Amino acid sequence: MEIVELGHPVLRKRAISIRSVKNPQIQALIDDMLSTLTSVGGMGIAAPQVNQSLRLIVVASHPTPNYPNAPEMEPTPMINPEVIALSEQMEDGWEGCLSIPGIRAKVPRHIWVSARYRTRDGKAREEIFEGFAARIFQHEYDHLNGIVYLDRITSTRNIITEKEFTRLMEGGGR
Ligand code: ZN
Repeated sequence: MEIVELGHPVLRKRAISIRSVKNPQIQALIDDMLSTLTSVGGMGIAAPQVNQSLRLIVVASHPTPNYPNAPEMEPTPMINPEVIALSEQMEDGWEGCLSIPGIRAKVPRHIWVSARYRTRDGKAREEIFEGFAARIFQHEYDHLNGIVYLDRITSTRNIITEKEFTRLMEGGGR
């Protein structure tokens, strides 16, 4: 699927709830988002990024050269996700976005988040995400409310290019 980029109005809209998880079009959209995410090697994607203004995200944390400490998890589609509670404590970490190619930025996020969502089988689930998985969840959840990670940074000085980011990670530090 084609990924829309910053400037496209769908990324600034509040996405609408999914009424019927079992709807074949929704199931097909989930499959398409999963394969898109795999083909680009991403760790998360939200339906607005494929131009579908619906409350659906996929979180798929896995270690990469740039994020060696990211936990390994099955790509998990989450329908109509809701935040139940957030840690008071926050921490800075590097993020990028498929819809904002070429740059990375240091973003403060809650260190854990408890959330509820429906699985693709329609089952209600509650889960606590920690560390990098919590970061991905918050990033993708923001997309459903028209928010991108650049809205969350505390200084434009925390934005760097992809090339410099790779150099930084190869150097093994921040
Ligand atoms: Zn994003």
